[in-house]
Amino acid sequence: MTRTDWDAIVVGAGPGGAAAAYDLRQAGLRILVVEQARLPRYKACGGAIPKTTLEQFPFRFDSVIRSAPTEVRFTFPNLPPMDMALPDQPVVMVMRDEFDLFLIRHADVEVWDDCPVTEVREADDRVWVTAGERTITARYLIGADGATSSVARSLGLRRGRRFGGSLEAEVPLTDASLRAEYGSRALFSLGIVPWGYLWVFPKGDFLSIGVGQFRPNRLDLRSVLHHEMDRLGIELDGIAVRGHPLPCYQAPPWPVWRIQPPEKLSTRRCILVGDAAGLVDPFLGEGIRHAITSGRLAASAILQDNLSDYELHIWRTIGHSLATAGLLAGFFYRFQKLSYRLGVCNPATIRQFVQVLTGRFSYQGSGRRLLTATIAWLFTRSKIWRGSPEAVWPS
Ligand SMILES: Cc1cc2nc3c(=O)[nH]c(=O)nc-3n(C[C@H](O)[C@H](O)[C@H](O)COP(=O)(O)OP(=O)(O)OC[C@H]3O[C@@H](n4cnc5c(N)ncnc54)[C@H](O)[C@@H]3O)c2cc1C
Repeated sequence: MTRTDWDAIVVGAGPGGAAAAYDLRQAGLRILVVEQARLPRYKACGGAIPKTTLEQFPFRFDSVIRSAPTEVRFTFPNLPPMDMALPDQPVVMVMRDEFDLFLIRHADVEVWDDCPVTEVREADDRVWVTAGERTITARYLIGADGATSSVARSLGLRRGRRFGGSLEAEVPLTDASLRAEYGSRALFSLGIVPWGYLWVFPKGDFLSIGVGQFRPNRLDLRSVLHHEMDRLGIELDGIAVRGHPLPCYQAPPWPVWRIQPPEKLSTRRCILVGDAAGLVDPFLGEGIRHAITSGRLAASAILQDNLSDYELHIWRTIGHSLATAGLLAGFFYRFQKLSYRLGVCNPATIRQFVQVLTGRFSYQGSGRRLLTATIAWLFTRSKIWRGSPEAVWPS
């Protein structure tokens, strides 16, 4: 077998890279993780993760879980808020600097932080990686280097992809009335930005606040965020608000996705995972779960010495569901008010949505149930059939 410095080099110590490194190390491979930032590093993120994602690992995350909301609230301007209880607290909130460091430490691999990867070159039997001042070799390389992946650029993958945008800040939760309002409640504020939402998530002694747009847009997100937080009584003076691109999943238009091969995310010896592979949910902006899943699929492909089926596995496990999420987003964000009234105000559809949020159902699994729930709700609750729609929908 070819002698290389490492069996695999993982570029990026986020959840995608850490999950891949963990599985490869468990299988006994020599793994190096190269990370451009000094660890622990801040990552702009709401930090919401379904418990089911963490249950895949044979260790507990208690020490890095900041909170687990007991309620989710949806709001829309001039319509009543909708609350949904989460009695079994299926989603947990983390600070990404703590969470990512915790995961990479459990991988138990060598990590070079403060060491950007600037170039990747691939030959038949190995990959050369320029990391900081050094050039090293490995049999395989995993590009887990996030939304602006330099690995993808080096390999000529993911060309011409569009990005959404976001802003996020962590605000100390010192005010008693804010603690009462948001201390254990996750807020999704709809109808404020055209292709996304604002959020307020509890993280123990902090709130994560932010705004995400899942399609490119010229809207001044910063002034929208400041205006809305002002309205909610959340003070942002002196708080760092950070921006970050959102590499949302882009499927070919339905029904072309059924015949067109999925997007190329690997070469003979290199493979992209997580945000580097564009695996952010285009409806919700969720990405940690998909980064972890794709990291594990990449590790499995490397262990089988065969990367050629990776795209197909990604499509079956993640892509198909996210393509459905893209369809849903296309309708929901284009007709937000109608969607809020039909979907969010309907307890049955919102229950389905929460099941997706918690990782129990995929979007395509929920699609039919959502449609049935909406139609059933319209029939049973709506006075449309008796000629007075105003009586049904809150105004
Ligand atoms: C504002 C915002 C809010 C979000 N909220 C949520 C949420 O609540 N729940 C959720 O599930 N998802 C959320 N997401 C998405 C989630 O943050 C990402 O999908 C997730 O971090 C992807 O993980 P990753 O490991 O692929 O990449 P990342 O976490 O981005 O990690 C990539 C790593 O690679 C490193 N790197 C980059 N370039 C190089 C280089 N050249 N050399 C070496 N290292 C490099 C980076 O420093 C970084 O540490 C949010 C995203 C944003 C922007």
